Amino acid sequence: MKSICRLLPLCVLCLLSLDCQPIGPPGGKPDPWLQRQAKAPAGVPSRTPVATKQGGSVSAAALLREVHLKTDMVPRGTYGRKVVRPMTPRYLTIHSTENQSAGAERHALALKRGALRSAKRPGGNRIGYLIWHFTVDDGVAIQHMPTSEQGEHADFDGPGNRYSIGIEMCEQRGNNWQATLDRTAKLTAYLMLRHHIPLRNVVPHYHWPRHGKHPPNKNCPHLLLDHGRPGAKWQAFLRRVNSHYRRLTAPR
Ligand SMILES: [Zn+2]
Repeated sequence: MKSICRLLPLCVLCLLSLDCQPIGPPGGKPDPWLQRQAKAPAGVPSRTPVATKQGGSVSAAALLREVHLKTDMVPRGTYGRKVVRPMTPRYLTIHSTENQSAGAERHALALKRGALRSAKRPGGNRIGYLIWHFTVDDGVAIQHMPTSEQGEHADFDGPGNRYSIGIEMCEQRGNNWQATLDRTAKLTAYLMLRHHIPLRNVVPHYHWPRHGKHPPNKNCPHLLLDHGRPGAKWQAFLRRVNSHYRRLTAPR
């Protein structure tokens, strides 16, 4: 993301009430896939069952409880969802907010109130607002839009927006970064299973060049890149995602 600090009028946000709704599955309504998973007597068979440090197998429903996922949707037809573009997700794009003054709930509020504007231009932002699918902090993950719709978080009219689910990690002051990271890894693993997305398609924002920007590849999520590029920190994050994915697919 572009730094949101400049876009969030903090003095206003401090006065606003936070009204997230504690709802389980993403989408704001019962997810039939998740309901089937919860009832299933055994996990999805895995060709490579591996017990992990995190404690062997886990159901998708149980992993979501660990994620502490809420939905707080931007209403359809408003701001970032003013134009609804269908999407079948093939990638998961990981960002971090570069904003030390707001956690997930304030970002949800800003998205719902149209506070995150971006200049609309041909080949650039398509709707005049920023929007992504999930924001994660050290206590909660919040969904802002259905995963069946395109966001505006990666590369304007490029494949990052057209085919990827956007996940923002918060960097608010006092945040437990390791807790945020692990919650993000769990959510990522759940979405991989839910949408049949392989680990190689879990990418940093850096992965998507932005037409007309210099440099085209953004240093995002900067806390998981080495010298502005994917390296050891990014690989460690992928291993963490994979460990949770293996919990989901291990025999139960
Ligand atoms: Zn980003």
